[in-house]
Parts: sequence; structure tokens; C-alpha cells
Amino acid sequence: MNTDASGQGAASVAGHVADADQPVTGEAPRTLLQVRNLRTIFRHDHGSLTAVDGVSFDVRRGETLAIVGESGSGKSITAMSLLRLIPSPPGEIVDGEVEFDGRDLLELSDEEIRQIRGNEIAMIFQEPMTSLNPVLNIARQIGEPMEIHSRRDRDSIWKRCVDLLRQVRIPDPERRLKAYPHQFSGGMRQRAMIAMGLACEPKLIIADEPTTALDVTVQAQILELLKDLTRDHHSSMILITHDLGVVARYADRINVMYAGRIVERGTSDEIFNHPRHPYTLGLMESVPRLNDSDGTRLRPIPGQPPDLSNLPRGCPFHPRCRFAMDKCREAEPPLEQLSEEHWKACWVDLDDKH
Ligand code: ADP
Ligand code: MG
Repeated sequence: MNTDASGQGAASVAGHVADADQPVTGEAPRTLLQVRNLRTIFRHDHGSLTAVDGVSFDVRRGETLAIVGESGSGKSITAMSLLRLIPSPPGEIVDGEVEFDGRDLLELSDEEIRQIRGNEIAMIFQEPMTSLNPVLNIARQIGEPMEIHSRRDRDSIWKRCVDLLRQVRIPDPERRLKAYPHQFSGGMRQRAMIAMGLACEPKLIIADEPTTALDVTVQAQILELLKDLTRDHHSSMILITHDLGVVARYADRINVMYAGRIVERGTSDEIFNHPRHPYTLGLMESVPRLNDSDGTRLRPIPGQPPDLSNLPRGCPFHPRCRFAMDKCREAEPPLEQLSEEHWKACWVDLDDKH
């Protein structure tokens, strides 16, 4: 196993976090998913780029874990790697372990991983219109995974579909089940997608930018719904978003990603009240505030997200970092533990700068 110069894999398996993950006698282990040193590359004509570079994190039972970062930071490729949905070629998972409920997903046969997808792990994407089939009514689409994964008869599948639409708070479910996707609003389509995801009672829901295409009010409703549903079903959720503003209320812990790496991790409280990585600070400063009428403008992070096939030496964030020192241009900082729940990969001590 290659634990590289970034030290990300090594750093996060070490230390006392492991103790917190020990099962309590007689109970299921606290950790549902353990990702270790995940590395996914894309080959191109002139070489390759590393989209996910030694990423390690855990998802605990019942928690919502956010993955936050600008577009292109590797969030979706991380999620797709977990379920082995990377298009290959040009993509390839070249290293790592993904232990889900006691099994390494990267070691399963194609048939075994198909059983996990949509059954034990559900994925909800940003664009419901492209994931829903326009020529099938909603009942067929919500019912389909049940036809594949359970032995229910048609009548019981219909009843379950009605129940699922109720759970995602779609009014008049019997009538709505006969409708087609284009007859639904964007928010309703996303609710239907969530109902599909819930049909098999997954242990883990991966929601990749589930509300990005929706207006702000509907966004909040969908996130509330996801939070209620994961709580009611005792499932865990990985909530992926580029918008740090939306995760504060909905995530228990946050992983901040940059250039395919986790650069900061902490509880939502710590990340919001005491960010320790300049990139996290930059993301927070660039979140538009609702009460912006007073003229406080959002301040975008200067510069462009990095070109993954041509990363700078040292810390990949240093060209955009207002605190960068000589050391940042020389060596890549490892992900280091600051306190029980707080980690950062940065040479700068932000507390000195305030
Ligand atoms: P995001 O954080 O916006 O979800 P992604 O995980 O989709 O970012 O992508 C991370 C990086 O992986 C992109 O910046 C891109 O360089 C690379 N990448 C993603 N998909 C492909 C692909 N099909 N072919 C080549 N490179 C890709
Ligand atoms: Mg994405």
C-alpha cells in the first residue's frame, strides 16, 4: 500500500480516532464506512491526473458527513469511486480501501457491488431530469429497484410507492404516481429521486449537490427533508456540495476538499467557528449572506482552482493563499490532528494571524 508524500492516508489512520471507532460490546460498530488512502486517476494523451489523491475519512452510523469544495476539487469522483462508478478508461481507482459494513467495496465482484448500489447505498444526483427516465411514469421508476431487489408483488409495491411519496411530502401521491417526470417541478423531481433512493432502505445515502439546481426556498425544504429522513431511518448520509453555506445546519461533520485532497476536517461547529485552513476561511468568506442588503459583498477566493495535471510544488493551495510562507512553496503539509475531531493540512497557524 502506497502511503504517499502527502501523508493523508497515513495521518488519518493513525492517532486516537481509531479508539473512538471501536465497537461497544454487543452493538454494531460505530463506523459504517471507512475510506482509506483512496486514489483515483484519469489517463490522458500526455500522462495522467490524480482527481482523488490519498483521501481517507469515516462515516459514522446515523451521521451526516459533508464533503465541501469548489467545483473540480474531486468531490463527485470520490463519491463515484466508493461505488466503483468511475468510467474506465480513462479513469482508474489505483489505490485505497473502502470498507462498508465490514466489506471492502473495492474487492467485491461486479455482481456484488451491483447489489450494494441502490440497495444498501443510494445515490442522489444533482440533475433529476437526467437521472429520471422521461418515458416511464413515476410509479414505474420508484418501483423498479423494489422489483429488482425485493420479492414484493405489484400490489404491495404500489402501496410502498404511495407511502414513499408521502414520506417525501408529495401531496396526492396516488395521482402523482401516474405522472411523468416532465409534469413535475424541479423540487418535485428531486423529491421523487429521493423516494427512489429510499425505496430499499439504504444504510447510506450519498447526495451529490442534491439541491444545486433548485431555488433557495426549495433547497432548504429538500435539505430539511433529507435530514428528517436520515434521522427517521437511522441511515447515514454523505452530503456533497460546493456551498459551505448550506451544510452548517445539516451536517454533523465536514470534510473540506481541495485538489483531490482533504485539507480540513472537523465538526460543523469547529469548521464554522474556528476554521484552521485558509482555504476553508476563503470558502466561508465567499458564501453570500442572506442579509446582504447592508452591502457586505461576498469575497471570492482569488485565482483559479488548480490544474490537476500541473500542480504546483508544495501545498497545492499556496498560489492562492494570502498567508503562504516559503515552506508552503516547498513541501506539502500532511493532514494533522489538532484535537479529537479537528484535522488540517496546512503549515500556517491561522490563530497567529488574527
Ligand atoms: P467536483 O468536486 O466538482 O465534483 P469532480 O470530482 O467531478 O469535481 O472532478 C475532479 C477532477 O477530476 C476534475 O477537475 C477533472 O480534472 C477530473 N475529471 C473528472 N471527470 C473526468 C473525466 N471523465 N475525464 C478526465 N478527468 C476527469
Ligand atoms: Mg461534482
